[in-house]
Amino acid sequence: MTARPILIAGGGIGGLATALGLSLRGFRSIVLEKSSALGEIGAGIQLGPNAFHSFDYLGIGDAARRMAVYIDRLRLMDAIAGDEICSIPLDEPFRQRFGNPYAVVHRGELYRVFLDACRASPRVELRVSSTVTGYEQAGDSVSVKLASGERVEGQALIGADGLWSEVRRQVVGDGPPRVSGHTTYRSVIPTERMPEDLRWNAATLWAGPKCHVVHYPLSGWKSFNLVVTYHNDAPEPVAGKPVHEDEVMAGFRHTHPRVQEIIRHGSDWKLWVLCDRDPVQDWVDGRVALLGDAAHPMLQYFAQGACMAMEDAVCISHMAEKFEGDMPRAFEAYQRQRVLRATRVQLQSRAIGEHIYHPAGAHAALRNSIMRAKSPEQWFETLGWLYGGSGLTPQP
Ligand SMILES: Cc1cc2nc3c(=O)[nH]c(=O)nc-3n(C[C@H](O)[C@H](O)[C@H](O)COP(=O)(O)OP(=O)(O)OC[C@H]3O[C@@H](n4cnc5c(N)ncnc54)[C@H](O)[C@@H]3O)c2cc1C
Repeated sequence: MTARPILIAGGGIGGLATALGLSLRGFRSIVLEKSSALGEIGAGIQLGPNAFHSFDYLGIGDAARRMAVYIDRLRLMDAIAGDEICSIPLDEPFRQRFGNPYAVVHRGELYRVFLDACRASPRVELRVSSTVTGYEQAGDSVSVKLASGERVEGQALIGADGLWSEVRRQVVGDGPPRVSGHTTYRSVIPTERMPEDLRWNAATLWAGPKCHVVHYPLSGWKSFNLVVTYHNDAPEPVAGKPVHEDEVMAGFRHTHPRVQEIIRHGSDWKLWVLCDRDPVQDWVDGRVALLGDAAHPMLQYFAQGACMAMEDAVCISHMAEKFEGDMPRAFEAYQRQRVLRATRVQLQSRAIGEHIYHPAGAHAALRNSIMRAKSPEQWFETLGWLYGGSGLTPQP
């Protein structure tokens, strides 16, 4: 294998998973992260069984399994009536069907597993305060330009630099992301602050007109993750702005008292205005490829953005090995294998928001009727293409 490094723009979950996957296949990489410290926000993340296929491929299956909370159902509640619409069991039949569990984890804890594994690898170099501003290709090299003016050379570049990717600007050039108008507020509270009768071992979604609430336990049941979303046609992208509880509650005055009670227990709320992009088929420019949110940013309604980034990392590492370091060919094969699956998740994430998370009136009544009628086996069928897939399976 060649000794020249593969450059990775962005040290999020996607970037670190890629560095780790490449290192296990014998490739050196340099991760260029713009922040001055490596880390993740303190919220939760849901992991479908497909995430566990990636953990195993990346050699961190045991560590990831140790810090996960294994919820026993996905529960859908009516945020107006206050009752259950349906719940999908995640116990033994689910695990057998998909070969792995469904789990929830603290992002910081998951990120730490990746970081520790990368730091332990002599093939991964992590550089902070390194903002990538563009790249040039010549012959069999890629030269990346940093905001400091420094240039870093490698045999290839992977743009894992997220929603506002600089690498994508050059590869695709499709302008800024689409602002969805959906505002999300996040809080993590100690378990004792969660109302006792709502401490369910479930990822629970309360779906209401133009709004929803999600909660689930984290960190060995020490805390609960609260995610509250309001479709208020917010016009501007925002990320991580602290807000007062009154602002969070403003979109939920029409919901059931139990929903409002959950929100009242939150604290230190932070706000995001959600963005995504229309799918594109071209993620590759010669020795440069996009990955994770840089390639296919999606709304969070399928809880799959990070799962897809990890699948990308598995696929790109596999192709790098298969094509023996011929990175342009490896990137073309990666793109062929990944584009349709990622596109399906991107588009379905939008559709789920419209038809499951946020409908009102007759639209909501239709949702309830269809979803109540499904058996667990029918749910498994519906979700089979997603949870039964991995970064190594042909698409979609
Ligand atoms: C509210 C919410 C809930 C979610 N819930 C889930 C869930 O339950 N399950 C799930 O799988 N996914 C979930 N997601 C999606 C998931 O968070 C993202 O898809 C995932 O973090 C993408 O990882 P990434 O590494 O591709 O990008 P990012 O995490 O955005 O990482 C990009 C990195 O690149 C760095 N960077 C940016 N620009 C540059 C540059 N020019 N130069 C160098 N570095 C740069 C950034 O600082 C960052 O560290 C959720 C998202 C939201 C908003």
